[in-house]
Amino acid sequence: MIVSEITVIGAGPGGCTTALSLAMKGIRVLMVDQASFPRDKVCGDALSGKVVLTLKRLNEDFPKELSIEPSVIPSHGVSFVAPNGKVLNVPFRRELDPENPPGFIAKRIDFDNWLFNKAAAHPLINIETGVRIENFVKENDEWILSDKENNFSIRTKLVVAADGAHSRFAKEVGGVVMEEEHYCAGLRGYYSGVKDLDENGFIELHFTKEFLPGYFWIFPLANGLANVGVGMRSDIVSKKKINLRKEMINLIENHPVLKKRFKDATLIDSIKGYGLPLGSKKRPLSGDGFLLVGDAGALIDPFTGEGIGNAMICGLKAGEIISGIKNNIYNKEALMAYDESVYKRLWPELNLSKKMQELVKYPWLFNLVVNRANNSKTLRETISCMFEDLDLRGRLKDPMFYLKVLFERK
Ligand SMILES: Cc1cc2nc3c(=O)[nH]c(=O)nc-3n(C[C@H](O)[C@H](O)[C@H](O)COP(=O)(O)OP(=O)(O)OC[C@H]3O[C@@H](n4cnc5c(N)ncnc54)[C@H](O)[C@@H]3O)c2cc1C
Repeated sequence: MIVSEITVIGAGPGGCTTALSLAMKGIRVLMVDQASFPRDKVCGDALSGKVVLTLKRLNEDFPKELSIEPSVIPSHGVSFVAPNGKVLNVPFRRELDPENPPGFIAKRIDFDNWLFNKAAAHPLINIETGVRIENFVKENDEWILSDKENNFSIRTKLVVAADGAHSRFAKEVGGVVMEEEHYCAGLRGYYSGVKDLDENGFIELHFTKEFLPGYFWIFPLANGLANVGVGMRSDIVSKKKINLRKEMINLIENHPVLKKRFKDATLIDSIKGYGLPLGSKKRPLSGDGFLLVGDAGALIDPFTGEGIGNAMICGLKAGEIISGIKNNIYNKEALMAYDESVYKRLWPELNLSKKMQELVKYPWLFNLVVNRANNSKTLRETISCMFEDLDLRGRLKDPMFYLKVLFERK
């Protein structure tokens, strides 16, 4: 049996950031993953500004080091395609700065492996891969974690569950239940030969009238490839009995604009699906002897589908809170500070994004904002700033914003 004071289950972005954040503070940690790296994760592969900032907090040089990986491309903005087909290009920053990109896009098999190797290189991080933790037994103030057959076991005082959207620990111990209205179904396929991919790595979100309230995305990747996918809230998928795969293929083959762009495109591998537990509801993220990080705590942005940055922010916060705990007493009361810290940072934007989900229910309003923004530099800049400045994003829930959009002079 391995004995470790702190154990992180899962070596995705949330787990690796937790381990690195603890190690930076001189704390030894064990990290376990069921997979052997490099391993894939179904995702849109877009790494937001939050990922870049968190990497910088871990190590000043990490963003630069990531940017020179051949599998990584910079991303400078997002293009929204409104239900009426009008496109709104929103740069993440006012000025394009090729030296200092605000975001990146990289296949998760590459990004996760890069981050995993950073963790593996740290002398205070011990790693076990190829081990799936299935049993969690509490003995006084310690956990005995083991695989299905009890061939592998760990005695530990604190468990950080960073084992993703299907976290067994979060379900069995943390009491996190899957609620369809707070969950999204997503599909992703890798394509070559998609026409007109943006050369500045703008990610494309298409809100086509045929597929609302779901969305279709095209994210450019290195080597001329593209990550193409769809997402829709699970309660709507169930209620309307939607076959997401069929809908995705239908858009690619029959949508008047998309079919031209996919005319010579080839699907590489196959279309794969995975769940997105949304942070549209506050849930407890800790308890006696445990913390939930990233998807295990259901913290994906309900409007943008962004979860990597949120998982990494959780990891950073977990390291900060754990390192501040006195006498290694990891009880519910002490760990409560983690919930407070995570929600203080993430809840304002999660809550706002929950409200922005509503926008797609009103295609006319969406069309209106996009039409006006295309004709107004000020409005375009406002929307551009919304990605960096939460107060500005707050304008979207303010009715005055829409009145100004209506009456603003071009
Ligand atoms: C279709 C789709 C598109 C998305 N697009 C984006 C996007 O473009 N940008 C973005 O920011 N987010 C996106 N997301 C969300 C993002 O993928 C997740 O939020 C992110 O992976 C969460 O990181 P994590 O570390 O919490 O979990 P994960 O990355 O899922 O890592 C969990 C790890 O735990 C391991 N594990 C699981 N169970 C066990 C066990 N019992 N024992 C040991 N190990 C275990 C797994 O092998 C895995 O390595 C998307 C999600 C989907 C499904």
